[in-house]
Amino acid sequence: MTVRTRIAPSPTGQDLHIGNAYTALINYVFAKKSGGQFIIRIEDTDRTRFIEGSEERILSSLEWLGIPHAEGPDTGGSFAPYRQSERLSLYLGFANKLIESSHAYYCFCTSERLEIMRKDQESRKLPPMYDGLCKHIPKEEAQEKVDEGARYVIRLDVPETGVTNFIDVVRGEISFENTLIDDQVLLKSDGYPTYHLGVVVDDHFMNISHIIRWEEWISSTPKHILLYKFFGWDLPVFAHVSLLRNPDKSKLSKRKNPVWASWYKDEGYLPEAVRNYLATMAWAFPDGRDIFSTDEMIAAFTLERLQTTAPVFSLEKLRWMNGEYLRSYQLSAISQKLYEFYGKKYPLEMIEKIWPLVRDRMKTMKEFESLAGFFFMAPKEYEIEVQKELLELVRNALISCEWNHDAMETSIRKEADSKGQKPKDVFMTLRVAVTGKTVGPPLLESLELLGKDKTLSRLVI
Ligand code: GLU
Repeated sequence: MTVRTRIAPSPTGQDLHIGNAYTALINYVFAKKSGGQFIIRIEDTDRTRFIEGSEERILSSLEWLGIPHAEGPDTGGSFAPYRQSERLSLYLGFANKLIESSHAYYCFCTSERLEIMRKDQESRKLPPMYDGLCKHIPKEEAQEKVDEGARYVIRLDVPETGVTNFIDVVRGEISFENTLIDDQVLLKSDGYPTYHLGVVVDDHFMNISHIIRWEEWISSTPKHILLYKFFGWDLPVFAHVSLLRNPDKSKLSKRKNPVWASWYKDEGYLPEAVRNYLATMAWAFPDGRDIFSTDEMIAAFTLERLQTTAPVFSLEKLRWMNGEYLRSYQLSAISQKLYEFYGKKYPLEMIEKIWPLVRDRMKTMKEFESLAGFFFMAPKEYEIEVQKELLELVRNALISCEWNHDAMETSIRKEADSKGQKPKDVFMTLRVAVTGKTVGPPLLESLELLGKDKTLSRLVI
């Protein structure tokens, strides 16, 4: 069997959700490990939540992240089209097949009736489920209504007794009482399938062998299992991976963590660091190491090692890891990355000279500007006010000083001594006047690089 995995994002968000990036990574790694293919399908059947441009942003974020797909709406492939909105006739045909085999039925309930039903269930603390009213309409009668043009949806006819179960490779056997499975809408009145019908038909026809997705889809899986059974199709392998959590263990959310992949790109995270960190959310490297490349992960990966504990997404840990990655590069390589990150606005040679001064303080590429921006521009704001007297002192110390670290240090200390000032205060004055900030890269080394003229020009009163 050829391993084929997929992610099936819906273009209903601003961009690629970091949780989808995490499942994409696992799907990609597993396909690679097995010599198979990882594909992308866009599930755009919920027209009310459709966001223009979302698909493009999802695809470009995946590209940035370095998770390539073998087939998809942009690359095409032998199972095209890869956008559900372009496959509508397929779903309609299969919904009708289920009607014929009596595994689905037409439902004519109005939204008003469904609303009343829902409210009633709510007040009686019952799970929100369709009450089956239209299930009892004789088939011919229902067909006549449809032929007369009545508005309808098609619902799954879930057996009233028994259980539906499946094996999850990560979690073992999972079973559901059929009485608790809703008669899910499969085809909506606008002719679009719901997620449940679309996902099953497409996973089947796109030869998906393994479905690796978030655990929040577990409760949908029995509906899918029933559909596979009713169509007489072989089941794929299911693996439900744990949801990423905020530090307070709630589901990863916009309010507590940045969730869009483009945010990480714009903040200057390296895609290889993001991939590494996401990998540790789901899976532990056999020898326990934290830092590993995606290729190393592919070599060591097994689905069974996926963890079921709720992983906490910590931005602080990712920042630490990103810093480690930044420092792992040769000077020329990291300088090139910074050069490109800033749209080539800072000269490459200058970045190469600055990097050794800031490398130990950097966690994201965006921090380069706040740490080293003063090399390119005089500060416009000062974190603290500088004392005129100390500024004058430091200017005097430097004006006829040889421009190297040792000479500057000696001269400043001497001048401070002769005026009875604390060297610490004088150095702070110098730092703030030149950089605008109270902390930053090693001061005198920075001044060597900035040059005498620029330094003195910032020491005017
Ligand atoms: N369209 C679903 C989503 O938005 C796909 C879920 C699945 O992987 O089955 O994530």
